[in-house]
Amino acid sequence: MKFVEYEGREIFLKHNIPCGGCFAVVKSKEELKELNVKSFPCVIKAQVLAGGRGKAGGVKIAKNRQEMLEILEKMLGMEIATHQTAGKTIKVEEVMISEFVQPEREMYMAVTMDRKAGRPVLIACAEGGMSIEELAVKKPEAVIKVFADPQEGLMDFQARDLAYALSIKKELFCDFTLLAKNLCRLFIEEDASLAEINPLVITKDGRLLAIDSKVITDDNAYFRHKEWDKIPDRDSCDIEKEAKEIGINYIALDGDIGCMVNGAGLAMATLDTIKLAGGDAANFLDVGGGANVEQITRAFKIILKDPKVKAIMVNIFGGIMKCDNIASGLVEAAKNVNINVPLVVRLEGTRVREGKDILAESGIKIHQADSAWEAAKLAVELAAKNGREG
Ligand code: GDP
Ligand code: MN
Repeated sequence: MKFVEYEGREIFLKHNIPCGGCFAVVKSKEELKELNVKSFPCVIKAQVLAGGRGKAGGVKIAKNRQEMLEILEKMLGMEIATHQTAGKTIKVEEVMISEFVQPEREMYMAVTMDRKAGRPVLIACAEGGMSIEELAVKKPEAVIKVFADPQEGLMDFQARDLAYALSIKKELFCDFTLLAKNLCRLFIEEDASLAEINPLVITKDGRLLAIDSKVITDDNAYFRHKEWDKIPDRDSCDIEKEAKEIGINYIALDGDIGCMVNGAGLAMATLDTIKLAGGDAANFLDVGGGANVEQITRAFKIILKDPKVKAIMVNIFGGIMKCDNIASGLVEAAKNVNINVPLVVRLEGTRVREGKDILAESGIKIHQADSAWEAAKLAVELAAKNGREG
């Protein structure tokens, strides 16, 4: 789950991380008439799931109400492209109006998972502003890493070492160590995969404040975070959202071969096999263990919603599910859905012979393959013919 800045800010506050003030979050131009901001200048920030907004026109300062309204008029609904949006644009549908602060110092602090160390790592840097990725390449010695205990979080001595390393002045020493510990605590308790403050500032009036937030949490921990239900899914495309609703694991990809597979491991292997055969998958799709007629029908419908799809490769291993049951399901589903691209099916496992016979006798045009490799080659070949057969 990815949180936009103002949502991340709420999570920060819950864990006693001091943040710049938020005056309002505006979602439509109608709200502008009644918008009441008492303190100017104020900062107007596009709430999108991408960093680098500052350079892309998504962070503006308004000196007075008039200026604020003009900026908001332009920013709401604007398409924004930053170095993190991979050549695409994102529509700005929410804007936050926040307190203007005057930073004396900008720093970077984040906690993420270090897979090699098997524990959370706090990453900090005395220099803010610059992107951390750039800094890690150009000045790796400036990036400080502290490993935290996965249960206990950051120890006092570690927080103090960090404060010394960043030359935090003594008036803010306690605030700083507390903030570092709180960020680690947040990371653990919120099941985050990233909790980032960039920049963490010391203001001219001597406050330590997070003036940006980036929080990403691990979907696997959803069962203990029902509060995530309230957060809109801004990151998935429409087809992904629909698949999620009906319990199908679907991730859109850039290629043109639609895939239907049972089991995430086999799905990954199928993507690799397609790649090896010279093609590219249009999606990752795991129908799950109970691949019944309904799930298969839905999966076909989902795959065909993507206009890029020029061929479909079904790769099913009948383990607990028997191949003849799956084949019947496939035939039923194919009758319900107008599959207007070549369909390649590879079945393997329990009762495979019976399953293949059902497919062959169904009267539906199905290209059967004896192995995943054969299926992938055939799917790539048929897709290259632009979906036209013969
Ligand atoms: P990002 O570029 O998407 O990460 O957006 P940020 O929220 O980090 O804002 C980008 C930059 O705008 C920050 O690095 C700051 O330099 C600046 N900025 C953000 N808020 C304020 C503020 O309240 N006062 C001042 N002076 N600068 C700000
Ligand atoms: Mn930032």
